[in-house]
Parts: sequence; C-alpha cells; structure tokens
Amino acid sequence: LIDFDGKIVNLALMKLSTYYKSKGYEVVLNPMSPSGLAKVHCSVLFEKNREKADKLRSLFPKIEFGGTGWDLTTTLPPEIEECRPDYDLYQAEDIYRRLSGIMTKEKKWEKANTIVNAGIGFTTRGCVRTNCGFCVVPQKEGSLRHVAEIAELINPRSNVLILLDNNLTADKNCIEKLREIRDRGLVVDITQGIDIRTMTPEIAKALSEVKHLRSIHYAWDQMPSESSVLRGIDTLSRFIRKGKHLCFTLVGFNTTFEEDMHRFRTLTALGVDPYVMVYSKKAVKRGKAAKAQMSFEDIQRRHFSRWVNGRIYKVTEFDRYSNWVKDRDAFLGGDSQMELGLVA
Ligand code: SF4
Repeated sequence: LIDFDGKIVNLALMKLSTYYKSKGYEVVLNPMSPSGLAKVHCSVLFEKNREKADKLRSLFPKIEFGGTGWDLTTTLPPEIEECRPDYDLYQAEDIYRRLSGIMTKEKKWEKANTIVNAGIGFTTRGCVRTNCGFCVVPQKEGSLRHVAEIAELINPRSNVLILLDNNLTADKNCIEKLREIRDRGLVVDITQGIDIRTMTPEIAKALSEVKHLRSIHYAWDQMPSESSVLRGIDTLSRFIRKGKHLCFTLVGFNTTFEEDMHRFRTLTALGVDPYVMVYSKKAVKRGKAAKAQMSFEDIQRRHFSRWVNGRIYKVTEFDRYSNWVKDRDAFLGGDSQMELGLVA
C-alpha cells in the first residue's frame, strides 16, 4: 500500500489493509521494491501530485491508483468499505517523517503518536451544499448521509477521535453526536472544520462542551458569505473564545487580492487567526525557471500566504515585507515603486 501524499493516516489504505490481511496476505506500507508484491494500491490525495504518482508505474507495473487526487470515480468496493481500519498499518515514524511546521522533536513525536493511536472515520459522507465550486465533495460523495456511529470509530488505544465528516455542523444529528463525544470523554479533531455559516447557539454550546485536539477551524472562502460567516463567528465566540478559532481563507479561486486582504483584515480585527489556503490544481514548482512562468498575481498570492501563515504580519506590513517587495520589483521593473505608490 502506498500513501503518496498523506499527512496523517489514510483511512482507505487502512481499510484495504484489514481486507487483505483477512484474506491471508501480508501487507507492506510504502514498499521500496516490487519484489514479492502480489498487488500494489496507491492513494493520491492531491490532484497536483497525480503526474508524479503516475511515474510509480515504471517501478510497480501492477499498481492501482485511487484517492481524490487521482480521480473522483474510483471508490472502495462495499466489502472493503465496510472493513474497520487496520490500526497496525502505520507506525509513529511513518507520520513523524511527514509532519511539517515549526515544533520541537518531542512535540513532533507526541503528535505522531497521537495520530497513529487515534480512532478515525466518518459518521456521514457527502455534504448539504452544492455551491462551493472549488470543492469535490458534492461530485464525489453526493448529498449528506449517515454512514457510521461515533462508537464504531473509537480506537481502544486512545480517547482521541479524528472525525473526517465533511460538514458535521450541517448534520441534523450534530448536537447528539457532540454530546456523545463529550459523554464518552473523547478528544476530537474535526479535521474538515465546521460550517460557520450555519452556527446556532445550541451547536456552539455543544461544541464548547467537547474537548478539542486543536483549534476550532472553519472557512471563509467566498465573498458572498461574508455576513453569514461574521454572524457565525459572533455566535460561536459567545461559547468559545476567539483565541481558539482558526479561519481558513481560500485565495486564487474567485477572489481578488483586495478581497483577500479584506478578509485578512476583518478576521484579525475580530481577534480570529486567519490561515490562507492557495487554490491550485498544479504542483508548486520551485526554482528560478518556475518563478519566471508565474503571473504577478501568483507571486503576490504566494507571498501573501507566507506573510499571513508565517505570522509575519505581526512584525511588518505586506507592502514592506522584504521577500515580496524584492519579487514584486523584479517582476515590475524599475518603475514599480512609483506605480504602487510606495514613494512620493
Ligand atoms: S461546505 Fe465544505 S464540504 Fe460542503 S461543499 Fe462546501 S467546501 Fe465542500
């Protein structure tokens, strides 16, 4: 089984592992050679990695691909989908190697151990929404439907639950599920975030009574949802202080740079941490040649996401952020400072 680009454990591969082990096969994660392999399955999560993953065919001629980054039609057969995940497939080292971000070695090991020992799964698939043009869930999974109980997702090795539901807060059973999580003493990571636009005082209260593994996160992806997002933040913050929120903002899909900056400024003024997600279906290439092919907007977005996500905005304004200024001036040529109004 090849986990091509996952950051945490991969549920589909864990189910495949259980299935093949039940048939008497030995299962290997991320093999280095095709020798002795009867079958090879590879999961690709991000479309930008598809081309690179496809090159594995030369090493593993029998390889079969799946995952959202590969296509939206390949699904697990029902007899595999029904399997419980194999919690022995991943070791902490497998996750440790893939963790990014600034943290001490100890923190990184702690995080890797938490992830491999956690229960993981979906209680619902699909979503109630159909108008998020950048999201593959409606096309891939259809409308929201129940698939499992919270109890079925628990890993006896720990009380941490990685809940993968696409839109937990739109589920009509959301409050009951949150109460069950609370009553079972679970610590939950709602990985896909909550839909802040549908926040009610009752859901906010139920969320506040649950232990969360990390910050409560939600998204403000499109400009027309501004009022519902701000209303939702207001409701949620009556029960969970804003310092514990994190708001993802999608850039590069259908917003202008001014709108991206507006969302950043609105969120920080409210005391909510923003996190920029750059929309891209292409792999980010590095180096001078790749940079030369980028548009002004691409370069600006790349620097904007670093400026926000690296918290550089706390020490300098964007138009004074040296990496951006350097690339902007190189792109625009000598007149750029005048054009952008940086000099009188
Ligand atoms: S609410 Fe979230 S999961 Fe549902 S379609 Fe929009 S982005 Fe996708």
